[in-house]
Amino acid sequence: MKHMTDNPEGVIARYLTVGGATVDLALKQVRHTFPDGISGTRGLTSATCTGCPASSEFPHWRTRTGTWTSSWDEDIPAEKAEVDARNWAQAHAEKCRAMPGPVSSEHL
Ligand SMILES: [Zn+2]
Repeated sequence: MKHMTDNPEGVIARYLTVGGATVDLALKQVRHTFPDGISGTRGLTSATCTGCPASSEFPHWRTRTGTWTSSWDEDIPAEKAEVDARNWAQAHAEKCRAMPGPVSSEHL
């Protein structure tokens, strides 16, 4: 059961959409396999609309590929990822007219 008043763990900001839903920004820790095959935990900022299926993820890293075949991960500051996530959330909130309907609970 999902309530609008819930503030799920990790949610750092919410944007109210024109349709009355919210776009939630959350900080997550995800398993990530580095190009060298070693896996670890990396940060990721996600933006998820509660009114429609739209969502986007802003990892705190990006994989760079060199001139040849080698590739490596480059860190992206969490603040930078958050700015991108906020821009996405803001832009989506301004155009999303989906209502957070009662049907959503049937899909959970
Ligand atoms: Zn939406």
